[in-house]
Amino acid sequence: MSKYLLVPQTIITADANDSIFHNKCLEIENGVITGIHENSTSVISGFQGEVVHLDNKVLIPGFVQTHIHLCQTLFRGLADDMELLDWLQKRIFPCENSHDPASLKSAAQLGIYELTMGGTTCLLDMGTMRHQETIFDELIGSGMRAVAGKCMIDQNDLYPSFKSTTKAELDYTYELANAYHNIAEGRIRYGFAPRFVLSCTEELLKETRAMMDDFTDSIYHTHSSENKGEIQEVRRLHNRENIDYFNSINVLGDHTVLAHCIHVNDHEVDLLRSTRTRVAHCPSSNMKLASGIAPIHRYLQEGVHVSLGADGAPCNNTLSAFNEMRLAALLQKPFHGPTVMDAKTVFRLATIEGAKALHVDSLVGSIEIGKKADLCILDLSDPTFSVSPDDEALYSNIVYAATAARVTDVMINGAWVVRKGEHQIYEKDKVYSTAKAELKNVLQRVQNS
Ligand SMILES: [Zn+2]
Repeated sequence: MSKYLLVPQTIITADANDSIFHNKCLEIENGVITGIHENSTSVISGFQGEVVHLDNKVLIPGFVQTHIHLCQTLFRGLADDMELLDWLQKRIFPCENSHDPASLKSAAQLGIYELTMGGTTCLLDMGTMRHQETIFDELIGSGMRAVAGKCMIDQNDLYPSFKSTTKAELDYTYELANAYHNIAEGRIRYGFAPRFVLSCTEELLKETRAMMDDFTDSIYHTHSSENKGEIQEVRRLHNRENIDYFNSINVLGDHTVLAHCIHVNDHEVDLLRSTRTRVAHCPSSNMKLASGIAPIHRYLQEGVHVSLGADGAPCNNTLSAFNEMRLAALLQKPFHGPTVMDAKTVFRLATIEGAKALHVDSLVGSIEIGKKADLCILDLSDPTFSVSPDDEALYSNIVYAATAARVTDVMINGAWVVRKGEHQIYEKDKVYSTAKAELKNVLQRVQNS
């Protein structure tokens, strides 16, 4: 197997001490970080393997995004400037409902291409109703690390043809979890994904939670408290607030990731903290759909676990971790002052805290000996970045100034997925042209349905 010595200018580790190393090199053997050495001629000349010189480059842990909809990537730009429930009913559900395996494969490729080119090495995906095997196959083949699962819907007043029976949803999900949990050397795990309260019966929500006991370190992934119309409807149906309702049916916990959590009361904040439920914050999506602003500063102060995600391409419209970091920081400041959500804190939310949310932090999320080599390499030697030699300027450059275009190389599980700006798995032109053709096919099927 492969043996590498990476020689960057700087290594930002996101370890417990936020260690930053200058003039050190990283040894990787069989996908695992095996050493952090002084950058000396004797270390480099004596190395038995491939030495990769990354002059002037910054090495960071790959980003972990904890809320993504790969299946929606084809639909970017088709549902702009709409309100959430309208957005779902008129555009997103009809389009998702019209996926066939070929269009879904194309959507997954397009999403994974963009994510990996932008330094994301691990994600939590919501999946879609049908053909979920296609997404898994693409995740496996792409080299991506992922927790993913079939989106479960057994009631749908917004778009009635986009649902299945409770039993069929549970059976298909169990089959998928059996086939795909903890495969590809542990790179892929199952994430149970009931869509949101309004599209799931109580039986589905509870039975899905019970199923998780058969799959160690699987994740329960759903949306919560995103929109005022949504929580009003939850209140009407269940006489409770959304998170309070989840608590009443025992689906909260440290293996549960709730996307958004914008509209919550004091009791719900307390529930999130005491149950150690994970919040996936998606600031671009929340602003674009005008859903609201999640109380992230409060969550962090009160010990609620937070990580970041780009959500789906139609509500963002990029899948860039850099955009989410920058917005997550800026969004809290007008309310709580400029000192909150500093760049280092936000960088941790996009890396190690994401890994903790998915329970993969013993494997990835930081650069430490013994962890898997999931890495992102950045070129920040450009006039648009701070020239300050201070370590703080590194975080500032990454969170406030960088974009996905600054990513030059990406490694997942010790394998190069992006090298010198070129994707190693996908051909860019082919991914793009296939996506254009497949979108046409989806829209044709929407018309005919
Ligand atoms: Zn979502």
